[in-house]
Amino acid sequence: MLVTQTAQSNQLTSFHWLEDLSHQQAGYAVATGAACRAGDRPVQLWLPEGRAAPVLETLEQWSQHPLAEFLNCFSVRWYQDAEDLKCQAIGNRGSQQCDLALLPRELQQHQLVFVTAEALSIASATHWQMVMPTSASVDLLAHEAGHWLGFADEYAMSTTLAVDYCNGRYQHPSVNVVTTTTNHVTSAELQALWQRLPWRDAVKDWRELAQQDGKGVWRLGSDNSVKVGLFASNTCAAVANVYSWKPVARMTAMEYHDVNVWPPIYLELLRTLE
Ligand SMILES: [Zn+2]
Repeated sequence: MLVTQTAQSNQLTSFHWLEDLSHQQAGYAVATGAACRAGDRPVQLWLPEGRAAPVLETLEQWSQHPLAEFLNCFSVRWYQDAEDLKCQAIGNRGSQQCDLALLPRELQQHQLVFVTAEALSIASATHWQMVMPTSASVDLLAHEAGHWLGFADEYAMSTTLAVDYCNGRYQHPSVNVVTTTTNHVTSAELQALWQRLPWRDAVKDWRELAQQDGKGVWRLGSDNSVKVGLFASNTCAAVANVYSWKPVARMTAMEYHDVNVWPPIYLELLRTLE
């Protein structure tokens, strides 16, 4: 991640100003790094003028993060007054959504809004917009960016979210979590489940996804010796009769951001989406 500032001295060394500066205006700088490829729509960063130092530090670390391979092209909009972002707490979690003044060409760009801690208690991500405290760690940024890239939470979703997601009504692809309505299946059902796993290519044999009992019934869930298979996820814990599953046994950053675990299969899945 390479970014620069207009007003303050720039502490990040390498950046390229976009050749096309026709839309440049006071308080609005665009900088992109080598990470921007032709056709990329930069993620637009909203940064508070004069109070963005912690964010810039985090963004410097971001370029070393495993997810930076998939999201590392940014542009910057500076703001002076958080009021102008028109952010509001929504829902019972109190997560924020901002009513940003966007130019038409910005409507198809992801917006990553950093606000100072007093203005925000909880980070949130929707399809186009993410709101985070300026103090956000690179691990938190990665978890929320993970949602943009196609990952679902592996901790128990709130009932409101879970009711839709866990019944198959999701607005976005979910590459790390699948759901089933039972945890006992026949051989044919197990093979069908294997077929629909986004990570099927990493599972050589469908029998690795379950354990068979004496009567021939398969109980879903891989043996712990399996590296990539089918492991219970807490995602749908709030919904009765729905089971949620993820590819690896260990806790990942989509369950708890602080662990910062991004298993190789997760990165592989993103590569196949590209
Ligand atoms: Zn999340």
